Amino acid sequence: MARILGYTHPACLAHDTGMGHPESADRLGAVLEGVHEAFPDLEWIEAPRATRGQLLRVHDDRLLASVLTPPPGGHLHLDPDTLLSPGSPEAALRAAGAGVAATEAVMHGEADAAFCAVRPPGHHATGDTAMGFCLFNNIAVAAAHALERFGLGRVAIADFDVHHGNGTQAIFEHDPRVLYLSSHQSGIFPDSGAGNERGVGNIVNLPLPPGSGRQAFRHAWSRQLLPALDAFAPQLLLVSAGFDGDRRDPLAQLGLEPADFAWLTGELARLAARHAQGRMVSMLEGGYHLQALREGAVAHVSSLLAGAPSGGNGEP
Ligand SMILES: [Zn+2]
Repeated sequence: MARILGYTHPACLAHDTGMGHPESADRLGAVLEGVHEAFPDLEWIEAPRATRGQLLRVHDDRLLASVLTPPPGGHLHLDPDTLLSPGSPEAALRAAGAGVAATEAVMHGEADAAFCAVRPPGHHATGDTAMGFCLFNNIAVAAAHALERFGLGRVAIADFDVHHGNGTQAIFEHDPRVLYLSSHQSGIFPDSGAGNERGVGNIVNLPLPPGSGRQAFRHAWSRQLLPALDAFAPQLLLVSAGFDGDRRDPLAQLGLEPADFAWLTGELARLAARHAQGRMVSMLEGGYHLQALREGAVAHVSSLLAGAPSGGNGEP
């Protein structure tokens, strides 16, 4: 069994997106309840706030000011999908801080891997723009911390959320120290992530048409994304863990099942064990069907706990 820490904070439940918004506090509630029930012995740590300096490594001053200023009228729309409530600044600081603290823990050997159960999600936020339900780019803040604080030269981000992490790509597309790998459904928000978007050779996008299904997803990772990750030999593996590829998700049509998230997490753990002393930090991104999200997160944590699998290519 790998040593896994969970990071979360009650403030993440107080980011209020209003009635009927798919990115609700109930999502995080479902993840926490499912993981607590399945793994009662998992150790949880209260996420600290990200500092201004940690955020400014990837975001500009204006974005910090707009996210961290409580909205005067109670709610403020930054775009049609992305809004601020009175609890949002603290939630955003704790969500980004979770990844920083988790990175510290795995780099100091206090844990093999960590799962950050936080919201708002992050991978759509660019250096200067909050969008797609995301305020700060939590995974990018964690990656920048690993680069700057620990002087790493090779940090990989594997993103299996069903949407393309346009923000993460934009932040690192000129930085060869970071490899960004993404599978995502083509033709949906944010409509980026084409295969020919390669950054400085450090971006690998694998768009999948709607309805691709389990086999195509596993082939994409087995044949293209995992070999690229293996060749990069990361010193730390970060994971943008979105569970909206599940066949039940209302925002996408990729056709996956929780077993696919368990499989991919196991493969990622194998490569982390090979190159990075097992060091993995996973951060919750999307997933909008509550039961599917809960099952996906439990499957993911189950594979983190199991650590590197031995043998087999795990065809579904
Ligand atoms: Zn998503």
